[in-house]
This record gives sequence, structure tokens and C-alpha cells, in this order.
Amino acid sequence: MIRVTVWNENVHEKTDERVRAVYPDGLHGAIAAALREDPELEVSTATLDEPEQGLPDEKLNATDVLFWWGHAAHDKVEDALIERIAMRVREGMGLVVLHSGHYSKLFRRLMGTGCRSKWWEKGDKERIFTILPGHPIAKGLPESFTLPCEETYCEKFDIPTPDEVVFIAWFSGGAVLRCGDCFHYGNGKIFYFQPGHETFPTYHDENIRRVLRNAARWAASVGVPPMSYGKHEPFE
Ligand code: ZN
Repeated sequence: MIRVTVWNENVHEKTDERVRAVYPDGLHGAIAAALREDPELEVSTATLDEPEQGLPDEKLNATDVLFWWGHAAHDKVEDALIERIAMRVREGMGLVVLHSGHYSKLFRRLMGTGCRSKWWEKGDKERIFTILPGHPIAKGLPESFTLPCEETYCEKFDIPTPDEVVFIAWFSGGAVLRCGDCFHYGNGKIFYFQPGHETFPTYHDENIRRVLRNAARWAASVGVPPMSYGKHEPFE
């Protein structure tokens, strides 16, 4: 089993009726429900308003893959927690950063760049192209698929050159974006995936839900032995 924790700041759900209408169980609830369709994923949720901001050591140490949705409360996440998560990723925990999480302290800390893009919220149609069809995160996805409405993010997206770009997006407002990007950080794998604005039903879309499940499996490093570092006897 792959132990997945879906973390959500859970702010818009409490303050915006439109978000509650689309995600009555919260964004974390919808993301977790998508992941639970894979019986090999053992899924739990965590939110910012819980003790230790939802991720005490016992929880983090028992997580193989962490999903991260944040937007309005990036600054409320304590630096010490960011460092603990970064260390876990370094050790091999997988991380899937969703949508506006691109500007979270966590993602900027791990990327080492500004992580900003141009953006507008006009409900553009988004067409997503699967440009690495053999990649594990692309398994079962069509050559391209559309979302009727999404918030638009546009290049230049200020990230380091990804190790792999699995998906690129075109938006009807004239934008393009590397919208599904893989990185390695220490022993851990990181996937950034742009779709998922809080007022649009993106996480109810079957293709998006499949990407989430594939990403959980790809990012997991279950059973991989830890690396050893430091002074060592010569091998020969
Ligand atoms: Zn958004």
C-alpha cells in the first residue's frame, strides 16, 4: 500500500459559498475521493487548521506521498514545517503540488526559483496535451483533453527546467503553460500539476482524477533503501 496524505489549507471552503457549492467536502475531500478509486492507495487528509498545521512528525513520517493544495494562506504555514517537509522529500517522500501551490513557500523552497507565472481568471477553456505518452503519469490519458473552464496560468513559468514535462496546456485566452512537470529533489520525486482552481469543478473531471492517481503511484518510493552519506571505507 502507498500511504498518501492530501493536505489542504481549507480556507476558501470556509469563506466562499461558490467554493462550497463545487466542493462540499472541501478540495481535499474531492482530491482524496479521486485517489481512493485506486485500491493500492491508503489515503488520508490533513488541513492547516488541525494541530501542528495538520502534519505532526508522526503523520509526515507515515506519508509516502504528500499532496499539497494552498492559495490564500501560504504565509501561514510555519517555516519549521516547510523545512521538515523538505527534509522528508529529500529522504524520498513524494510530493504532488497542485494549482496555486506553485506559489507556496514549500514549492518555492524546493525549486529555488520565484515560481510565478502570468495569470488571469476568466474561465478560459484549457486544452491539455499529453506530450510524454509513455510516462507513468500519462498512463491511460488521451493525446489531449479539455476542461471547459480553468484559471489561466501563462509562461513564462519561473521554475527550474523540469526533469520531465508530461503535459503542456493551451488556454483559449491565448496562453500556454508547462502544466505537468516532474522534478527530482534528493531521493524524492515532485510533480507539479496546474489544473484545480477552487471555483471550477476540475477535480470532478475523470482525466484529472486519473492524473492524480498516476502521480501518486509515480511519486511513491516505497521500499527504496535509504542512501548513506559521509566518511566511508574505500570500496576497493
Ligand atoms: Zn486558482
